[in-house]
Amino acid sequence: MTFTAPSPDGAELRSQHTIAVDEPAGRAIRVGLDVGGTKIDAVAVDRSGDIVGRHRRPTGWGDDAVVDSITQAVAALAAENGLSLASIGSVGVGIPGVVDVETGRVLHAVNLGVESLDLAGRASAALGIPFRIENDVKAAALGAAVLRGATGSMAYLNLGTGVAAGIVLDGRIRRGARGTAGEVGHISVDPNGRLCGCGQRGCIETLCGGGALAKAWGRPGALPVADILDAADAGDPTAIALRADLHHGAAAAVRVLVLSADVETVVIGGGLTALGARLDEGIRAALRTEAEASPFMRSLHLDERIEILATGSPAAAFGAALVGAAVPEKEIVFHG
Ligand SMILES: [Zn+2]
Repeated sequence: MTFTAPSPDGAELRSQHTIAVDEPAGRAIRVGLDVGGTKIDAVAVDRSGDIVGRHRRPTGWGDDAVVDSITQAVAALAAENGLSLASIGSVGVGIPGVVDVETGRVLHAVNLGVESLDLAGRASAALGIPFRIENDVKAAALGAAVLRGATGSMAYLNLGTGVAAGIVLDGRIRRGARGTAGEVGHISVDPNGRLCGCGQRGCIETLCGGGALAKAWGRPGALPVADILDAADAGDPTAIALRADLHHGAAAAVRVLVLSADVETVVIGGGLTALGARLDEGIRAALRTEAEASPFMRSLHLDERIEILATGSPAAAFGAALVGAAVPEKEIVFHG
């Protein structure tokens, strides 16, 4: 089949994941799963690229529970939408942690209690459907690019507990030589800054990662970053400093992505986007302020080149479905 992108303006974005592949008879549905620390978002995509079903359920903790919750999500998605498992040609999974795309193994997914898991092998064996696994942020980047109908370049900046980005150039995920392209959260922008979980000081993630901000705030609460913004509005000096860190850190990530990859747009997603305009406008203001002294930086109009992904967007799960539909290029050459 040829897996093409749905697109509001009729443009077609083809990526390494949207190449012509042989489709087993009757297996027209591609399933994508975005596996987060607390929940799984699953979508079913038909042959024309439309999302025809969606299901959410909690994520399990530890190897066995992660595999079980993933296979259960696929089964429930199919049952709720009148799809047989035999109609599913592939399942793609976007999951946090280090992913070996070739073997389908997930490493160091600490938020899921997984150290080393043969996810593709075990899930495929359980359901009899091929699985492909990708890092969650990279899958979301691809999904956001295709859903936007963009044919050019973009980056997806995920502001959640941690900070990472996926870069899509000419419709392809930019993986890099060792898969670290887009790991902007661990660019140090302040050698005297707070200690990062990675061992460096002053990483972008220490400024605008939800986990690092909650730790720096140090007060209990269900939504620490929202609490920080509320306290900043009320005049708390610690909160005002952390609010500035959030906006400056995210602005630094946007600058890095544009200046290194020259992406046209940076789409911002992740849990912190629930902060809404307080995030969005703060980042734009930081980009404007920090460009003031530089005619070069002003000329880039970075504040006009960010977009916030809509809350509840299926981009991550949809991108995973595109990943699942992929066939390694060497296999294409072999068949071609
Ligand atoms: Zn770091």
